[in-house]
Amino acid sequence: MNTGIQTDILDKITAFLSREHSHLINGKIAVSSGTKKLSILDPSNGKEIAQTPIADKNDVEAAVNSAHIAFKDGRWSGLRPADRERILLKFADLVERDADLIAHIETLEQGKSIMISRHVEVGGSIEFIRFAAGLATKLYGRTMDLSPPPGMKFTAFTRREPIGVVAAIAPWNFPMAIALWKVIPALAAGCTVVLKPSESTPLTALWLAELALEAGVPDGVFNVITGDGATSGDALVRSPLVSKISFTGSTVTGKSIGKIAMDRMARVTLELGGKNPAIILKDADIDAAVQGIVMGAFLNNGQVCAAASRIYIESEVFDKFAAAMEGVIKGMSVGPGLDPSNQINPLVSQTHQNRVQNYLDDASSKGAELISGKDGPDKNGFYISPTLVINPNTNLNLFREEVFGPLLGLTRVANAQEAISKANDTQYGLAASLWTSDLKATMDIVPQLEAGTVWVNTHVPLDANMPFGGYKQSGIGREFGPNWVENFTEEKSVCISH
Ligand code: NDP
Repeated sequence: MNTGIQTDILDKITAFLSREHSHLINGKIAVSSGTKKLSILDPSNGKEIAQTPIADKNDVEAAVNSAHIAFKDGRWSGLRPADRERILLKFADLVERDADLIAHIETLEQGKSIMISRHVEVGGSIEFIRFAAGLATKLYGRTMDLSPPPGMKFTAFTRREPIGVVAAIAPWNFPMAIALWKVIPALAAGCTVVLKPSESTPLTALWLAELALEAGVPDGVFNVITGDGATSGDALVRSPLVSKISFTGSTVTGKSIGKIAMDRMARVTLELGGKNPAIILKDADIDAAVQGIVMGAFLNNGQVCAAASRIYIESEVFDKFAAAMEGVIKGMSVGPGLDPSNQINPLVSQTHQNRVQNYLDDASSKGAELISGKDGPDKNGFYISPTLVINPNTNLNLFREEVFGPLLGLTRVANAQEAISKANDTQYGLAASLWTSDLKATMDIVPQLEAGTVWVNTHVPLDANMPFGGYKQSGIGREFGPNWVENFTEEKSVCISH
């Protein structure tokens, strides 16, 4: 398979994969106290590409202690903001230098198309790193006029102070990007970090932590532990020295982490699941809507929290839209992510493949109308064919729950009001899109959609300068935007009597 990658980079990847991997603690590859190992598999064929240890409580404690000491002694928070910014910008340059290599490792461990690894995961991350790095020098306090008793004079202001040790817990769908959405703003604020990547996709995180050291991030400031959620993740969120947990993943896990955090009032940001609707009005440009929904629904094989999964289409254009979608999904090539011509690639793991297959089996057993595209080429790969569900009944599990796979429900609706009411009929509220050429309809409908992001005539673009997060059970807090770094600070009021 010609992936267009240079031989010297391929050699570096081979050398990296054949290493004995372990946690990166206090600037060094640690000897793991946990003796159990995770097998990291290539999702396109199920073959092992590496092993990483499962951090036990001692490993987690060592990583958190290292971050705690590094925070307390000010080796990072005590730097001038301009120096933190400079070092993080250097880190972005190093990610850019290693872009092809990281993209390749990402596709090998996650399964996604090398094109998405290159352009979305790595290319996008470089922009997000630079944006967040710049915020290191843009933390602002406020000054306030107070109303002291007559005869007294007070001057008050606030300052933003780094919160301390941050536990960053990243999922497997965009292992690199989502990890960096936590790590970089935390570092920009002056915090120190322990990152736990997903058990399925820990490899890019280890590479990134080494690049951070090369960029000049001091030892102990950015630590990585590998392991599973139940052992390593749980120990991390329970550590009393962790002041802030920044988590992306399922609503179920997010809720349980939120409860643990609340016990000791650890700060928490949760970016959770979605069951995101798209509304296609009859005046929409249907060709553009089909292209946009294909991207919005099938990017990364549907393993995107903001993916379009419930499409409500006005009756007048339903048949045209559905026929066009059927043509597209039946024509999609299905195969390994390293071949850039493949549009659908394997899911991240066999566990997840089984989970998505269960949704399809549930739908079949309840008589749903399913239209599927091609099968994957290797029965040992974790493939699910792209599938449309026509007018899904509300009793199907795939209709109410987050599936995270290449499945898309198309529902015929009589008018915009029916579409809005159905779009909002969910516990989730992460994102939604509206497709129309009517400006008045746009301005009427956008405020009625219960979602943290509403796209109009597009679905899925994220930008470092646009806040992202959920309404309802899709999360707490926002990432990105000019206030991103404030998530990792406390606001201190200072009142001076004079
Ligand atoms: P989880 O929410 O369980 O996993 C997300 C991250 O949390 C992973 O790093 C995981 O580690 C970690 N984790 C799991 N349990 C704990 C715990 N008790 N304490 C601390 N950390 C923990 O998602 P799943 O991987 O189980 O995926 C299930 C579903 O969640 C998907 O099908 C999808 O619907 C949704 N999901 C949503 C994402 C989003 O972007 N909003 C991302 C990923 C999944 P590990 O992987 O090592 O277990």
